[in-house]
Amino acid sequence: MTLSKRAAKVSEESLHRIFTIPVAPDSTLGRIENEISQNLAGFLGAHIAATEQALSEIEKDFANSLIPEEPAFVSDHMHHLLDKLVSQSVHTSSPNFIGHMTSALPYFILPLSKLMVGLNQNLVKIETSKAFTPMERQVLGMMHRLVYQGDEPFYQQWMHSANHSLGAFCSGGTIANLTALWVARNNLLKPDANFKGVAREGLYKALKHYQYDGLAILVSARGHYSLKKSADVLGIGQDSVIAIPTDENNKIDCQLLKAKCQQLADENIRVLSIVGVAGTTETGNIDPLTQMAEIAQHYGAHFHVDAAWGGATLLSKKYRPMLKGIELADSVTIDAHKQMYVPMGAGLVVFKNPASVAAIEHHAEYILRKGSKDLGSHTLEGSRPGMAMLVYAALHVISRPGYELLINSSIEKAHYFAELITQHEDFELITAPELCLLTYRYNPASVQALLANADDAQQETINIILDKLTKFIQKRQRENGKSFVSRTRIEVKKYQGRKTLVFRVVLANPLTSKTILQDVLTEQMQLALESETFLPKLLSMSKP
Ligand SMILES: *Cc1c(COP(=O)(O)O)cnc(C)c1O
Repeated sequence: MTLSKRAAKVSEESLHRIFTIPVAPDSTLGRIENEISQNLAGFLGAHIAATEQALSEIEKDFANSLIPEEPAFVSDHMHHLLDKLVSQSVHTSSPNFIGHMTSALPYFILPLSKLMVGLNQNLVKIETSKAFTPMERQVLGMMHRLVYQGDEPFYQQWMHSANHSLGAFCSGGTIANLTALWVARNNLLKPDANFKGVAREGLYKALKHYQYDGLAILVSARGHYSLKKSADVLGIGQDSVIAIPTDENNKIDCQLLKAKCQQLADENIRVLSIVGVAGTTETGNIDPLTQMAEIAQHYGAHFHVDAAWGGATLLSKKYRPMLKGIELADSVTIDAHKQMYVPMGAGLVVFKNPASVAAIEHHAEYILRKGSKDLGSHTLEGSRPGMAMLVYAALHVISRPGYELLINSSIEKAHYFAELITQHEDFELITAPELCLLTYRYNPASVQALLANADDAQQETINIILDKLTKFIQKRQRENGKSFVSRTRIEVKKYQGRKTLVFRVVLANPLTSKTILQDVLTEQMQLALESETFLPKLLSMSKP
């Protein structure tokens, strides 16, 4: 059964099917196209299993800085690409690739992307994107409704209104966060009788006019680095992004957040925005959003929620309550290219108040005229592709219940993997999954016992060697190319907040099976044995 209009219900099996459709081969280029349209995973597998070269080797294939003087036949060039580029690409759609947020795509995305590129609509203005503009506004409306759950009249009134926007579609979470903070900055430092606003007069005059000694953005220590980039671009400065410590569950400590707000107020530094994270990039945890909203309201700060990765959880009725309080946010970032199975280049931010984007409105004579419905008057980016079409299509083909199945099964798989790690005496779960992301490390039972009874200095010595072993295993595993997990360094409460190297796993691919997860642990155990220095050292230390 495929996922067709006639299918009354989506099933897990039908959802697996859309990630693996078998193909009938054709002519050479046709075959390649067919393969990548309908069997992306199989195609990449065949090309990627072949060679595993070091990056420095691959760079030699891309060393010529001269633009060719001779034209090439497309078919010849295609073979060149297959040989040099495709065969060395990262197999992100493999079910064994469980290290990053970039994962497999449903088969229908590729033919639809071709249509999108062929139509070459430019979403900056209606004159180059009639039909695509209302479609994108509808997608923003759907995502807005997913977050804020407004009523039908609200969307009838605002979704297609010229001077309002329910949000902005953009290339990703970075630009979405920047757009949200840009709106927040311009609304805070707005024009009045004696001042033309920060957008016109700049930050220096704005701070003087409003008599602030600075601005600050508050986020947990697990906040994404894009917030620092945003602060830099907006002229606020990276150091004005203040990291608030987290509790043992990687959630912002609201007592410390409140205390910092008070301290800043006493120093005459205005809190521009408090940013809640709904699904941190490193550990996947969700901040206490309701409490944060209250604090933001008390200090008159814009409340933004960075749900770039975790926002898609709202599509699951079962797990939606975990993001409670998100509906109180002034703005919310969601990346469709993370857990919504859309290719990269699909980020968005939605605004609770459809009028708030007026603060970043731009007009020009030839386009974006006043009163026009051109999307470009409320976006940071100019020319933009019709990526919203892929979100639109995925929302229709997969549907809300289909997404619910995908999301629930990812979360439940992460819980299964966590259980597997906990039960295995030679592995140590570092952060338990709240959504479908977890961290852990290989740590032999005898060493775990040693650590439990060691003093701080001994712990540190052992952890330094364990860090090296974790790095060794992760690199070996990547080089072997059978499976992939990523690694990161996070503060671990149990080791006095020490920044510890861990494996990071994101379970997004519906085809990742329990067997694959078991195999990952088996492989990592074997790789640990290949370490000639770190493992023997640890084991000798733990001998009585
Ligand atoms: C991925 C991510 C971002 C950045 O999004 P891009 O699409 O990579 O620009 C921002 N915040 C969080 C929490 C993320 O996970």
